[in-house]
Amino acid sequence: MNHASAFDMDAFRPHDHGRCRRAARAAAERECQARGLRLTPARAFVLDALLESHRAMTAYELLDRLREAGLGKQPPIVYRALDFLVANGFAHRVERLGAFVGCVHGADDHRAAFLVCRSCRQVAEAVLEAPPAALTAQAEATGFAVERVTVEAEGLCERCRADA
Ligand SMILES: [Zn+2]
Ligand SMILES: [Zn+2]
Ligand SMILES: [Zn+2]
Repeated sequence: MNHASAFDMDAFRPHDHGRCRRAARAAAERECQARGLRLTPARAFVLDALLESHRAMTAYELLDRLREAGLGKQPPIVYRALDFLVANGFAHRVERLGAFVGCVHGADDHRAAFLVCRSCRQVAEAVLEAPPAALTAQAEATGFAVERVTVEAEGLCERCRADA
């Protein structure tokens, strides 16, 4: 992969996740203040749930959490919160899993690439500065206008490979 930062492989191994989580949460709060965005209770709750680990969560799982917490039981609450978090770079959608992860890269506007473990659903993120050059060059050569590139590699993390 070209033009990408290193993948945050902590996602696949024991680490001080409290530090990841607190840093990501603080970054989101700072961004909200700077940009005049409101981290409503539902948005904050969904963000916190996503930041509990590096595992991707589906909208249904998040809705169950909201229900348990008494914050709402209607799916639109979750979808609106996710739309907000994704649009502002606080979370990402992992297409391969149809699920979401909290961003641990400090929530500015960025493109991301993912390593997705199909067994434990943990996801490692790298910031992708530009889409793979070979792909865009080929597309442009045929007159195809690329609007969005998704870079997700699916496989098994080291721990799941050891368990298999
Ligand atoms: Zn972590
Ligand atoms: Zn990110
Ligand atoms: Zn795994």
